[in-house]
Amino acid sequence: MYKPTIGLEIHAELKTRSKMFCDCRNDPEEKHPNLNVCPICLGHPGTLPVINKKAVEYVLKVGMALGGKPAKKSKFDRKNYFYPDLPKNYQISQYDMPLISGGELRGVRITRVHLEEDAGRLVHEVGSLVDFNRAGVPLMELVTEPDIRSSDEAVLFAKELQLILKYLGASDADMEKGLMRIEANVSVKKEGLNQSRGLVGRTGSINEPVLGTKVEVKNINSFKAVHDAIEYEIKRQVELLEKGEKIKQETRGWDDVKGITKAQRSKEEAHDYRYFPEPDLPQLDLTPSTDGFDLEKLKLEIPELPEEKRRRFEKEYLLSPEQTETLAIEPALADFFEAAVSEAKTFTDDTAITQIAFNYLTSDLRGLIKQNEMAIQDLKFTPEDFAHLAVLAHSKKISSRIAKDLLLKMFESGGDPENIIKEQGMEQISDESAILPVIHKILVENSSAVNDFKKGKVNALKFLIGQAMRELKGRGNPEALKRLIEKEIPR
Ligand code: ADP
Ligand code: ZN
Ligand code: MG
Repeated sequence: MYKPTIGLEIHAELKTRSKMFCDCRNDPEEKHPNLNVCPICLGHPGTLPVINKKAVEYVLKVGMALGGKPAKKSKFDRKNYFYPDLPKNYQISQYDMPLISGGELRGVRITRVHLEEDAGRLVHEVGSLVDFNRAGVPLMELVTEPDIRSSDEAVLFAKELQLILKYLGASDADMEKGLMRIEANVSVKKEGLNQSRGLVGRTGSINEPVLGTKVEVKNINSFKAVHDAIEYEIKRQVELLEKGEKIKQETRGWDDVKGITKAQRSKEEAHDYRYFPEPDLPQLDLTPSTDGFDLEKLKLEIPELPEEKRRRFEKEYLLSPEQTETLAIEPALADFFEAAVSEAKTFTDDTAITQIAFNYLTSDLRGLIKQNEMAIQDLKFTPEDFAHLAVLAHSKKISSRIAKDLLLKMFESGGDPENIIKEQGMEQISDESAILPVIHKILVENSSAVNDFKKGKVNALKFLIGQAMRELKGRGNPEALKRLIEKEIPR
């Protein structure tokens, strides 16, 4: 048996208005190449970088949200390498004094979180072109300890980090758009090897390292690719070791189409980055108020995080873990739900109202929102209007069919359900004179159900109510229907 070990390096583009060291717009949606550029992010000689404070604050927030420790002093360093997408021939990054050290997420220890600038993009679609819109965009890098044991754990970690970045507003972290990029370091080690020799304990001998040789996998652009690339790499390494071969420490690239990793460059040829402190930027002092960073204030700005929300929603609203997850991954939906339930609870003490609100929200309303490719913030009605709909459905003043019709009308034109009911003549029909002719009709048409009912079958009554409701286009008062059907069937 082989034991896989994985450590992740995750980059995320931060959602700042401007770039990391200049005033150019940071706009990942910009389609026109080389529009958001200036002498600073193009690396012209004689220009000077200026630190984007907001970017530093985002990294500090992310780090503190993960329980990491902000540095007292931090600095930027030059990482030197030559590549056409790097205008200065060095990247401003952080080497030995990262903004954040330590932290933990889903049982995985965080080594560090630091800040750097993104490189440009080589565009091959139209001839060959370098687009520098992305050059100099603030980029957060988070490095984990080699604590991850499987591809599934790696995906869960990355998804949770993505969610936290979104909660903090630090990054949209969309992998398909390249806003979050993942590198996976993978190694395998034969299990119980040390123990079986009876020589050393769990930590291994001095001569034999505890972990196997790692391979770094790049070009992972989706969560599925995180899973598949790690699975492939584990299998590849195990097969090599089984053949008695050694693992070469190298960087490999994931090929999404072929579903394989391919050697990119070996460690021997790897760059010597010749890191040295960035001479054009001051060292950052993060002790209270020295350089204008207020860590206590930043900490207070950290919102309720996904895991806290899950636990609170399960407790406060008695939702199942699956229901809670639906809301946790869509905080705007969760906010809407909370506002609606709070309003609904002023009408009823019955806790069932939360389930009704949840169901109409996550199935019917969310379906409409998705179909129309809009955001919940764009709705024409308020959570309170929505709560009134849930209350009407809960009190059985409207049937589920009418509730759906109503919701659609609210979705199309906005407004409170009570008003729509009045305006559109959707009121419930309880009037005997309107209901009786319908009942007479369905009793004649469904004589076998009538007979079943006479024999005492409860389901037959339900069926007959359903038939009458259909005739009344969902507007019949279920109580009145039941009462009148029972009255009209002679026993
Ligand atoms: P390097 O100096 O090559 O960049 P680091 O020690 O900085 O290596 O680690 C980079 C990443 O690789 C980290 O996420 C770390 O957890 C992971 N890593 C280190 N050793 C291993 C290993 N043996 N197996 C899997 N991942 C590893
Ligand atoms: Zn610029
Ligand atoms: Mg490293």
